[in-house]
Amino acid sequence: MWDGWREASARGWDWLFPRVCAGCDQMSDREGRHLCWACFSRIDWHAAGLCERCGGQTEGQVSHAFVCGVCQAAPPAYDKARSAGRFQGVLRDVIHQFKYSQALWLKQDLTDLLCGCLSAHFSRESIDVVIPVPLHPVRLRERSYNQAALLAQGLACRIDRRFDGRSLARIRKTQSQTLLDASHRRANMLGAFEVVRPEWVRGRCVLLVDDVMTTGATLHECARVLKKAGARSVWGVTVGRG
Ligand SMILES: [Zn+2]
Ligand SMILES: [Zn+2]
Repeated sequence: MWDGWREASARGWDWLFPRVCAGCDQMSDREGRHLCWACFSRIDWHAAGLCERCGGQTEGQVSHAFVCGVCQAAPPAYDKARSAGRFQGVLRDVIHQFKYSQALWLKQDLTDLLCGCLSAHFSRESIDVVIPVPLHPVRLRERSYNQAALLAQGLACRIDRRFDGRSLARIRKTQSQTLLDASHRRANMLGAFEVVRPEWVRGRCVLLVDDVMTTGATLHECARVLKKAGARSVWGVTVGRG
């Protein structure tokens, strides 16, 4: 009943205010979504040849399970991380609009991608709580919203799991990661996060959500403090992979 009403209302809104595709500026032909079929199909999905641990894609052809050299040399604190698609082209544009240009209407499209990635790689029944990678309060004031928290909220609602945007906090502002290599990124993130409500994560399976993962240093540091606070397992999911 509710779903039918929601669909009918979405169709009504689409008729009144046609949606422009965030990728190509043409009218979107996907009902209730801001990314048209053509742009959606241009996303470079991150599906095969992935490291068991970090989900990094190998360039070669592999059909067996493997753990990449990076994860073998410096195992990440999270148990498993996956991303929906490569952070390039249309996906990069859409994430940038969502993150920096207040294009909050893209939340449903991006939540779709997270949901698809989750179904492909994780068992949603095992997840106890969905936690976003937090922003530092100063950054949050500048931007007025945390894009990861909006995505985590959307995802938690879709998979019917508890959203917790308060137990993990960012306590230190970090230098931009863009010019740092993998090992320096981990050092840069050290001490950036704190679990302020350990009793809410102890013994739980936590799903961490972020918009983009590059070397995984941020997810690693979040997972490290969550595990230290007693989390049973920590998984990470992001829309894009840099
Ligand atoms: Zn398009
Ligand atoms: Zn790996």
